[in-house]
Amino acid sequence: MNKLLKPFLVIVIISFLPLGANAWGFFCHRLINKHAIFLLPPEMVGFYKKHMDYIVQHAVDPDKRSHAVDGEAEKHYIDIDYFGDKPFEAMPRIWKKAIEKYGEDTLHEYGILPWNIEWMMYRLTDAFKEGDVEKIINASANFGHYIGDANVPLHTTQYYDGKKLYQKGIHALWETRIPEMMAENFDFFIGRCQYINKPLDKAWDLVEYSHNEMDSVLNIYDSLLLNYDQSSIYVMEERGAVVSKQFSLAFCRMMEQEMQKMVYRKLVMSIYYVSSFWYTAWVNAGQPDLEKMADKEISKEHQKELDDLEYLWKNGKAKGRPNPEDEE
Ligand SMILES: [Zn+2]
Repeated sequence: MNKLLKPFLVIVIISFLPLGANAWGFFCHRLINKHAIFLLPPEMVGFYKKHMDYIVQHAVDPDKRSHAVDGEAEKHYIDIDYFGDKPFEAMPRIWKKAIEKYGEDTLHEYGILPWNIEWMMYRLTDAFKEGDVEKIINASANFGHYIGDANVPLHTTQYYDGKKLYQKGIHALWETRIPEMMAENFDFFIGRCQYINKPLDKAWDLVEYSHNEMDSVLNIYDSLLLNYDQSSIYVMEERGAVVSKQFSLAFCRMMEQEMQKMVYRKLVMSIYYVSSFWYTAWVNAGQPDLEKMADKEISKEHQKELDDLEYLWKNGKAKGRPNPEDEE
């Protein structure tokens, strides 16, 4: 090809190229589910390893469903700061009591993540009780996703992409860019998962830990944007025919350092709790013998569901809250 012509083929987009989808990005959700498998006890690990491809690949189905299915997006977050100055005291942890206090419409409007974790817990437990391999691996893959989301501070706030307009981009920086640039050097040697006595309380605790770090994320980002060497914040990156503006590796490192390795810490927590919730569902189902469960191919009906979702995700219009990375 004539070299002189090449610059005209490159479309320059001065904005952020969507690198993934909401919450942790596709890369992280898959990484979390994959690593969670290796924290399981011997009675479970063989079965999960056998189905690793499915559990890893479908870790991102909930984000794809956000595009396709009404009522899905709100399962991935809770804007807890909408509910006053001391929202964790104000909000009843139990779904029925929360409805009595705020009404179901309001809860759906501001997100239902912690309760969704409880419901997924029942779904996976029932799948184990039934001994249905397809349901077990599907529920495990999806459950892992929502537990990962609960560990993302920006999934617990109305200000999910910053409080001010110029802070836009923080969501993608935190959950996609930093991990994609840095995760290969992260150490995920975590140990063994543990039984969770009160799954709903644990889901709320995770949301609260995340929310407690929300201010640090925004403040550190703000101060770096102002004080960091302006010419080193961004780099132009070429991907195929598209050039886009992205945060530089040096800026990502500085942000992660200032946040005291928050992205790393939250990835580790996600992995640990995904494994622990899976394990808890299995124990609560009476510890069925997974080795004995028949090796089953994915049924035609289930494969069609998966194909339909893939189609809707690629061709449908996004529903629910606008995804910070879909805009522009
Ligand atoms: Zn999500």
